[in-house]
Amino acid sequence: MHEDIETIVLTEAEIRARITELGDEISRDYGDEPILLVAVLRGAALFIADLARSISSPVEIDFMAVSSYGSSTKSSGVVRIIKDLDESLEGRHVLVVEDILDTGLTLKYLLKNLASRGPKTLEVITLLSKQGKQRVPISCKYIGFDVPDEFVVGYGLDYAERYRNLPYIGILKPAVYSE
Ligand code: 5GP
Repeated sequence: MHEDIETIVLTEAEIRARITELGDEISRDYGDEPILLVAVLRGAALFIADLARSISSPVEIDFMAVSSYGSSTKSSGVVRIIKDLDESLEGRHVLVVEDILDTGLTLKYLLKNLASRGPKTLEVITLLSKQGKQRVPISCKYIGFDVPDEFVVGYGLDYAERYRNLPYIGILKPAVYSE
């Protein structure tokens, strides 16, 4: 275990097993219909890579990047699109791939934007869903895991751009924040 990690919340094996289940469920739901997986950079990059490989339906992937204002550990809900999608969403089955759903503010904004582009269907998969405080209602079709309302890192999730490469998801030691 990395020296900065206090507790492991989800092990590498747990994450892998759950993504296999989610891939099977998605493949059953969409069948032979092509899916456009849309990930929000950078946190969801690792998840979309593993998820795409667990789906047997035809899959295309695209990325967008948003920046949220405010401090690094709290979501402000105000987002700016830094990199837009390359693909048109018109008439397509779009599945937005998120790393973590906290307040839901980021996703709410994004979904409104994506819905205006005429997709045939628009659904959300999130690897983690936080037992949040002021969650705005988001209809999320697939959820990997419910996690406690604590700041987690690993498997794509960062603290100050670090720890994304941890193969598991964990909670940092408090001392790390004061360094
Ligand atoms: P929301 O708008 O749902 O509150 O926050 C969504 C974004 O905030 C996530 O996509 C992620 O980038 C960031 N975020 C929320 N909670 C966490 C967390 O526990 N750890 C990390 N590393 N990022 C988080």
